[in-house]
Amino acid sequence: MTAQTEAVLSAQQDVIQSTDPQIAELIRLEQQRQDQTLELIASENHTSPAVMAATGSCLTNKYCEGYPGKRYYSGCDYYDDVERLAIQRVTKLFNCTFANVQPHSGANANNAVFFALLEPGDTFASIVLSEGGHLTHGSPVNLTGKWFKPVHYPLIYDESAPNFGHIDYDAVRATCLEHKPKMLICGYSAYPRIIDFPKFREIADECGAILMADIAHIAGLIVADAHPSPFPHCHVVTTTTHKTLRGPRGGLILTNDQDIAKKIDKAVFPGTQGGPLMHAIAGKAVAFGEALKPDFADYGKQIVKNAAALAKALMDHGYSLTSNGTENHLMVIDLRKTSADLTGKAAALWLEQSGIIVNKNTVPKDERSPFQTSGIRLGTPALTTRGLKEPDMPPVADLMHRAIASNGDQDLINKIREDVQALCQRFPMPH
Ligand SMILES: *Cc1c(COP(=O)(O)O)cnc(C)c1O
Repeated sequence: MTAQTEAVLSAQQDVIQSTDPQIAELIRLEQQRQDQTLELIASENHTSPAVMAATGSCLTNKYCEGYPGKRYYSGCDYYDDVERLAIQRVTKLFNCTFANVQPHSGANANNAVFFALLEPGDTFASIVLSEGGHLTHGSPVNLTGKWFKPVHYPLIYDESAPNFGHIDYDAVRATCLEHKPKMLICGYSAYPRIIDFPKFREIADECGAILMADIAHIAGLIVADAHPSPFPHCHVVTTTTHKTLRGPRGGLILTNDQDIAKKIDKAVFPGTQGGPLMHAIAGKAVAFGEALKPDFADYGKQIVKNAAALAKALMDHGYSLTSNGTENHLMVIDLRKTSADLTGKAAALWLEQSGIIVNKNTVPKDERSPFQTSGIRLGTPALTTRGLKEPDMPPVADLMHRAIASNGDQDLINKIREDVQALCQRFPMPH
């Protein structure tokens, strides 16, 4: 940890310590956990002390229902400026004309889009959760699956096909022509390949659908020019701000379409949310400011280089990856190819005990439940924030391999944990 990080955190800690030592101790332990483990969850990151300070500021005290210049409460002047700055910075980042920065999370952003652009019972097309989609793309347990009608398009499952594991664009077209969805969603939670936005737009136009991109995972890569942009191809774009974009937890909706923009503003407030989290919006503004700096482009490109290096090192150990590799920040190991008995749940547990944090994940055509799974998902955004580069990836893969091959042997795991901590000490928390 640098002196600056330490100063911010210890000032926060002192304040909490004096009023609530129990919570202060839990925060201290969590900071230690983050320092001493390798974070490979593809949707997580380490945000900057400035983002954390803005998020922990007095801006949490105010009600600002409405939008800049049109609030329902008095005393919102500074908040108007904060929100305007957030909007100005993020529209510059993504080169688009409209942003709503109020969604409390990615799921809330998606709910607002459904509320704005669809009627209950309307059909939309997406990838199913178990193959890399998201809960909010029509899972039966989610509002989008209960109140709307999802149809799912497939991947290419033929292992001998050159594009094995990629989206089957011909099947996307066929699915859309058959079901005439009102909205077509692209953008995923566990898809390791580049998304072809122009091709999706062609299909959306052919079947008369609104094209929505959910770039929750790849927003930071897009900003860094390490993945193609959804603009100008997509009608509406949602994202989180806390994954590769490295901001505070939150959501965001972008568009270039004035008519859609009006509907989105109404759907966020008063449609689906109340007062905005202005401290979080200030944190978003700080993060967008950081992402506008040239070194963020280096960061985003490094994430992808690290993912490619990690994927190669894992495949050299004999692991099989869905789609046989990665072109972005994440990869999914298909453990069925390692051992018929090995579940994602067991592998994730042994890795966690070794200080390597991943999540169990279903793989395409998985026969195991989401609680067991046959895969684990890995990503490099957090390790890249800590300063790891390509030459550091084979050692990470070696540690992972040792943890999985340990088969749960606690003596072996304790030794791996020491080696993980030694590696963590070489890469202190940044900024
Ligand atoms: C993470 C994610 C979301 C949801 O974000 P939350 O902030 O957890 O609500 C939505 N869509 C996709 C594709 C995601 O990966």
